[in-house]
Amino acid sequence: MKSRIVRASEGATKIAPADKFVGQVLQDQVFVPEDPSRLRVTRVTFTPGGRTNWHAHAVGQILYVLSGAGRYQLEGDAVREILPGDTVVIPPKSRHWHGAAPDQMMCHLALSESDDQGAATDWQEPVSDADYTAVPA
Ligand code: MN
Repeated sequence: MKSRIVRASEGATKIAPADKFVGQVLQDQVFVPEDPSRLRVTRVTFTPGGRTNWHAHAVGQILYVLSGAGRYQLEGDAVREILPGDTVVIPPKSRHWHGAAPDQMMCHLALSESDDQGAATDWQEPVSDADYTAVPA
């Protein structure tokens, strides 16, 4: 890891893979892990209706909402609205999803690390429309 400024122009926006997300979701890498750090930072932009599949992170995840209006649900809990400036703390190995509101986009930073074995995210099935459209608590 050496000191430098990584310019936005060095990266390209990617369309998030359809086997892990529902709807149109865009990913911009902010930082990819460099030894000895395991930190990965991604800016994720969800268009209205866009969300992750259900998934779990080996050592948890932090989300920081930058713009728009979004949704977050930890399995077994109610759907929650998330708004700019909010930090979402997601414990290790906990099934959850996050995404935009049905009628608003949402952009967040996603910060996560891999575990000692290199495992990071366990991707699972899509979030049903019934779960997604539940009125937030
Ligand atoms: Mn997550």
